Amino acid sequence: MNIILLGAPGSGKGTEGNLISKNYNIPTISTGDIFRENIKNKTELGVVVEKLMNNGQLVPDDLVVSLIKDRLNCDDVKNGFILDGFPRTVAQAQALKEIAKIDKVILIDVDYEITEQRILSRRVCPVCKSVYNTMTYSKDICDKCGASLITRKDDNKETVKKRFDVYVNQTNPVIDFYENENLLYKVDGNLSPDTVYSEIDKILQK
Ligand code: AMP
Repeated sequence: MNIILLGAPGSGKGTEGNLISKNYNIPTISTGDIFRENIKNKTELGVVVEKLMNNGQLVPDDLVVSLIKDRLNCDDVKNGFILDGFPRTVAQAQALKEIAKIDKVILIDVDYEITEQRILSRRVCPVCKSVYNTMTYSKDICDKCGASLITRKDDNKETVKKRFDVYVNQTNPVIDFYENENLLYKVDGNLSPDTVYSEIDKILQK
C-alpha cells in the first residue's frame, strides 16, 4: 500500500509513520530525514538545503521531486511505502502523480498551539529516527537503539511559526488536491499517538 501522511509540523507524521512502518512492514520515506542526513554528511545537497531548512523555508520542488523519484525506484518500496513530509506543494503532488500510484492520503489534523508545544519539547533519535517528547520521556538516550537524543535545529519558537505559515500557504492546497482525487482521509491528531494510530489503522484496513 502506498500512503501519504499529511499534516503540519509537529502533527505526529514521524511518530505515526514509524508505527505504520513497523506494523505494515513498509518503509517510511521522510524527505526531512533525507535532507538532515545530507546536512550531517556535508554532501552537495546538504550544503544547498541547510540554510533553507534552518530558516523554515521549503527546498525547491525540482530538487525534492528528483530525490523522491530516485528513492521510489529502490527495491524496498515494491510492497508499499509511507511518504512523510512529501508532497508539500501542489507542484510536488502533481509530479508524484506521474511517478507513483497513491492508495491513501491521511491528514493528521492538529491545532497550532498543540503543534508548537510538541515541537518545542521534541527530541529525536538521529540514528533510528524515533521521536520523543520531554513531557513524557525524560531520558537523554533513545529507548530503542541507545543513541543520544538531539533537538532539531529548526525546532525553535521563531522557525516553528515560519514553518507553520509555510504549511498554511503552500501545503494546505495539497489537501484540496487529494480531496479532489478522492484519496483523502482525516484523523484528529490532537489525541494521543496510540489513539491516532488506531484511527489510522482503521482507515488502512478499509
Ligand atoms: P520535516 O522533517 O518534514 O519537518 O522537514 C524539515 C524541513 O525540510 C522543511 O521545513 C523543509 O525545509 C525541508 N523539506 C522537507 N520536505 C520537503 C518537501 N517535500 N518540500 C520542500 N522542502 C521540504
